[in-house]
Amino acid sequence: MAIFLAIYIYIDYRYFDKTLKWADDINQPPPVYVGKYDEIVTPTYKALRHKTLTIQQITQLNQNILWAANAFPAAVLILDKNFIIQWCNRNAKTLLGIDSKKDIGYKIFNLIRWPEFYQYAYKGDWQKPYTTYDERDGRLYHLKFEFTRYSTDNILLLCFDNTQLESLRTTQQDFVANVSHELRTPLTVLTGFLETLRDLPPEAISPEQRVHYEDLMHEQAERMLAIVTDLLTLSTLESTKLANQQSVPIASLIEQAKRQTEVLSKGQHQLSWSINPTLSVSGNAHELSSAITNLLTNAVRYTPANGQIEVFWGLAEDGQAIFSVKDSGLGIAPSDISRITERFYRVDKSRSRASGGTGLGLAITKHIAIRHNAKLMIKSKLNKGSTFSLIFPKENITSL
Ligand code: ADP
Repeated sequence: MAIFLAIYIYIDYRYFDKTLKWADDINQPPPVYVGKYDEIVTPTYKALRHKTLTIQQITQLNQNILWAANAFPAAVLILDKNFIIQWCNRNAKTLLGIDSKKDIGYKIFNLIRWPEFYQYAYKGDWQKPYTTYDERDGRLYHLKFEFTRYSTDNILLLCFDNTQLESLRTTQQDFVANVSHELRTPLTVLTGFLETLRDLPPEAISPEQRVHYEDLMHEQAERMLAIVTDLLTLSTLESTKLANQQSVPIASLIEQAKRQTEVLSKGQHQLSWSINPTLSVSGNAHELSSAITNLLTNAVRYTPANGQIEVFWGLAEDGQAIFSVKDSGLGIAPSDISRITERFYRVDKSRSRASGGTGLGLAITKHIAIRHNAKLMIKSKLNKGSTFSLIFPKENITSL
């Protein structure tokens, strides 16, 4: 009995000792068997493992949320109920100059000091966002702020960079204003003539005068039609993909445009043509034809009588295909060159209108070039002349 008891006490002591050693670092796997102590060790270890796994998952989730908030394309700030910054992402620095390393713990109004922002935040009516302009690092930003109280003690503040959206809106507004202005002038003239014809007794105007008025009215109506047609062309170019692509023999398109150019020039210009008859590029024949016609008619319209116009279609030294129109006309000042492809931009409005221009020709030509992976290059010197070129990459050439 005594021996048995001694053995039992010894074994039990060993198990207890093993259990104690494990208890020193309970993150280690427990001993394989520790007798009755298994009943403590096994559930403790299981509960511990479960907790450790849960903590790891929560830490990972936390980390993911932080990464996502940092990658969010807006400034994200967490504020307490007194507007003290608790956390902010990287974009808070770009958009608002708020640094997550230095500025945590400061009141937001110490860093964003616009009085209207302060009033908006304290008013607490955040249904509509707060928007403002701000200049940072030499750039003007249009910012949109949104406050959300997401718990009794915390506020989420988002700040979006709306600069691009705003400039798109302004461009759209300018465009509508431009179109209205362009159509208003011929409409006013047309209405004026119609009123005159309606209000005057028939005997007050001679048949010749009547014909003259009708001609003028027709001219204005044609001008409006030209503007609307060009606008529709532009809108189609902007909203559709390039269709009906085929190998286009540019020489035959130039041949058609040549006749139109000669009619417009009325023999007043010296025209010379250097055309490669076999060089073709892939594209839409209708679109390429209008780009070519646009550049040729512009050369005639902006080159005074006796000027020269040289037309080239062929390969450049680097293997690209070039259509160029060089004129000895009015030329364009450097400050205007970058703008003449904008819709309705004209250097000389009255000259453009007098020759039937809509101010949309180069915008259309540029769009067509972009759709064909080509470039519209403009070189010009005021009072010396201009060269407009369409440059097609080698990959577009379908026959040499
Ligand atoms: P428009 O219908 O007014 O000609 P475009 O878009 O074709 O419209 O051209 C825009 C402006 O660019 C013209 O009003 C003109 O001032 C200038 N321009 C275009 N082509 C030439 C050229 N060959 N020489 C001088 N100026 C030109």
